[in-house]
Amino acid sequence: MTVVVKIGGAAGNAAAAVVADLAGRTDYVLVHGGSAEIDRLGVALGRPPEHFTSPSGTVSRRCDPAQLETVVLALAGTVQTGLVAALEARGTRAIGLSGVDGRLLLARRKTGVRAVVGGKVVRLPDDLSGTIEAVDGGLLRSLLSLGLTPVVGPPAITDAGEVVNVDADAVAAAVAGAVRAEVLLLLTNVPGVLRSVGDPASVVPRVARDGIDELLSLASGKMRKKVVAAREALAAGVPRVVIAPSQVDGPVGRALAGAGTVFA
Ligand code: ADP
Repeated sequence: MTVVVKIGGAAGNAAAAVVADLAGRTDYVLVHGGSAEIDRLGVALGRPPEHFTSPSGTVSRRCDPAQLETVVLALAGTVQTGLVAALEARGTRAIGLSGVDGRLLLARRKTGVRAVVGGKVVRLPDDLSGTIEAVDGGLLRSLLSLGLTPVVGPPAITDAGEVVNVDADAVAAAVAGAVRAEVLLLLTNVPGVLRSVGDPASVVPRVARDGIDELLSLASGKMRKKVVAAREALAAGVPRVVIAPSQVDGPVGRALAGAGTVFA
């Protein structure tokens, strides 16, 4: 059974609990985000993070060339190296790859990125963000067959060789489809998709495929991207997706046992 496990990067996630629970397994790909570390490093470098709101109301991280540099330093550098070292410390042979390495994550650069500034819509032509178009699943399966555990995160690369930031939940969904995973676990800092944000007891336990659009009306902000990623993974042939907490004992085992929100 191949499992794709995505660990969130916002504050409140517990990467250590996830790594501890993965010890001894060799049948998974670990995907990561790193928003809190990008923000921390940006402040330390004197380039605090910036966000913008698109005309449709979505809030995104600003990725001009200087901000993208911070994203790459934080994700491919600090976060990924930390996860690989933590897995190695528990005896797993892990190999870190950004989407640029071996053209693992091929993306299309977003053109016409627009933001609402002071009530007016302005173009952001220097924004370096993209949408995943293809994942080299063969490369990941080759690594797994050599006994190496891939640890994968943004950025991605375009056909023209540009480095672009991509959403880590979308990466996890595309990776799960490409390696024909039996299950995708999106581990995060909340107990699952909540009917009422702030009430951990309001977890939606199970969602059928035809209920996802209705669920999208509940999921605001960043949770929306996870529900969209769950829908993409199911559409790519992944039979089961679970959005579950990372900050518990045994988060992987619990999510596999059905904790959190299960999409099937
Ligand atoms: P991660 O870094 O773990 O991927 P994100 O910050 O990207 O986490 O997404 C999780 C966040 O989504 C939660 O901390 C919460 O603030 C927000 N959220 C918005 N709507 C919901 C909802 N309906 N249920 C759960 N979380 C929600």
